[in-house]
Amino acid sequence: MSTPKLTVVIPVYNEEATLEALFARLYKSLDALGQTYEIIFINDGSRDKSAAILSAQYHLRPEVTRVILFNGNFGQHRAILAGFAHARGECVITLDADLQNPPEDITLLLAEIDKGHDYVGSIRRKRNDSWWRHVASRAMNGLRERITHIHMTDQGCMMRAYSRRIIDTINQCNEMNTFIPALAYSFAQNPTEVVIGHEERFAGESKYSLYSLIRLNFDLMTGFSIVPLQLFSMLGMLVSMGSGLLVAYLMARRLILGPEEGGVFTLFAIAFFLLGIALFGIGILGEYIGRIYHEVRDRPRYLISAILQKEEEQA
Ligand code: UDP
Ligand code: MG
Repeated sequence: MSTPKLTVVIPVYNEEATLEALFARLYKSLDALGQTYEIIFINDGSRDKSAAILSAQYHLRPEVTRVILFNGNFGQHRAILAGFAHARGECVITLDADLQNPPEDITLLLAEIDKGHDYVGSIRRKRNDSWWRHVASRAMNGLRERITHIHMTDQGCMMRAYSRRIIDTINQCNEMNTFIPALAYSFAQNPTEVVIGHEERFAGESKYSLYSLIRLNFDLMTGFSIVPLQLFSMLGMLVSMGSGLLVAYLMARRLILGPEEGGVFTLFAIAFFLLGIALFGIGILGEYIGRIYHEVRDRPRYLISAILQKEEEQA
């Protein structure tokens, strides 16, 4: 078990309804691979019976199963980071617990890794998401790609494969809030993408609301690029040049035509417009300051209460 070929990392948060079905399909397809593997489940502080189900599964297959129990809910990405920190495989695949991506498609990702790619992204074949997610995610994708230069056809799919070198690099990063596929992509030398199957959530419900999707996209843009800040200073420069011209024009009229009245509402409109831009700019600054704040506090990213794993044989 010391260096398996493959590590599968699965974050679990309140997934008691799907876990048994996941085990049945996942272990079956991994056993069929004929490669050495390990599966790391991270229980992200579930409030249902997930932890008990995971521990029962650990006792069933202790030689290939490891379970990390968090003592709180730290979020999907930190759970995956904990999995990375403990992964021993030459290649690491992340998978959601909800069976939206078929575990059988792990072979597709592995085939790309074997071709020498160090990062394998995934594209969902047929999206079964609601229409507003569809529209929103397309729009955000385009914007994100332009700002961060991270090419990801489908950012909503976490089933991806990473080589050992990328995992080691990610393990050196101390970012508090990150988006793992984007982080990995920025370290990849030879990235690729494959199309994989996509199904409705097997059971339970999505842990993400519209709000957290918006948050995720802010994190992506501010976490991987300072272009929003730079755009803002460009905009600020253009606006101040414009208002400088306006002042010059009004001054000239004052000198040539003498004192005038009227035009108050135009001035109001201009003032409100500038006010809006200023507020937006403060908001963007706030996004970055919030990130800096999280980083400088330097608190642990997650707290582990227990790890279930077979003791490693002494070499
Ligand atoms: N998850 C987690 N912690 C959280 C929220 C989600 O570990 O705080 C896990 C969840 O159990 C699942 C994966 O992250 O395995 C993706 O969650 P979900 O399916 O709800 O997201 P969606 O597919 O709707 O984007
Ligand atoms: Mg899901």
